[in-house]
Amino acid sequence: MRDIQNIVILTGAGVSAESGVATFRGPGGLWEGHRVEDVCTPKALERQPELVHRFYDERRAKLSTVRPNAAHEALARLDAEWTGGLLLVTQNVDDLHERAGSTRMLHMHGELKSALCAACGMRRPWDAALPPICPTCQAPTLRPDIVFFGEMPYQMDAIEAALANADLFVSIGTSGAVYPAAGFVRTARHYGAQTLELNLDPSEGSIWFDDSRMGPAGTLVPAWVEEVLRG
Ligand code: NAD
Ligand code: ZN
Repeated sequence: MRDIQNIVILTGAGVSAESGVATFRGPGGLWEGHRVEDVCTPKALERQPELVHRFYDERRAKLSTVRPNAAHEALARLDAEWTGGLLLVTQNVDDLHERAGSTRMLHMHGELKSALCAACGMRRPWDAALPPICPTCQAPTLRPDIVFFGEMPYQMDAIEAALANADLFVSIGTSGAVYPAAGFVRTARHYGAQTLELNLDPSEGSIWFDDSRMGPAGTLVPAWVEEVLRG
């Protein structure tokens, strides 16, 4: 650990599982009972806007019933106490990392508590159910600020710059099935970072990591953070 200055952490749905937020690939490969193509693509929004809006309205409403768990809290502690570089990149659209206290972080796949207008590009925090009409341009084009399959994730330049400078890349609770996030481990390795995976079971990208620890994030993450902070 002595040579480590810059840490990049990637989190996925598994980090929120112990808070009671369902992961993407639940039973039968469904997300809360829905096929991914039915709720997470531009085509779905075009064909069935009511279904897509209802799905994300429900996910957003659920946030007030869940709380950060020990993994979110440990990552917030690391953010507060680590004096080197740190970037937490989450694929999650929930707000549990920021509620735990993380600040050096970004949401590469958007946020449930944000609205986006497909016509005028307006983006703003949004707590309630989403109406279709954009408050800025009045077009019926308000949508959840979620990066759908086939759309470009947010802040890729900042993520790539952080990966190029990382001494340690840690992936937590992600299946390694969704690109470009699944490719970050290879980018980090390419630039010379050590790589560590913390996940419930081996992910699709496990072979790319120098070290893999299997178990629940609520146990593995606090133990790893303690190790890092002790040097
Ligand atoms: P995923 O569901 O594909 O994979 C989750 C991974 O976490 C699996 O490998 C699983 O074994 C592991 N896991 C499950 N419980 C765990 C635990 N307690 N501790 C550690 N690991 C655990 O999720 P993904 O890779 O993040 O990709 C899914 C996409 O779905 C993301 O783009 C994200 O935007 C979206 N999504 C977000 C949320 C959320 O915001 N909480 C929830 C579901 C889906
Ligand atoms: Zn608008």
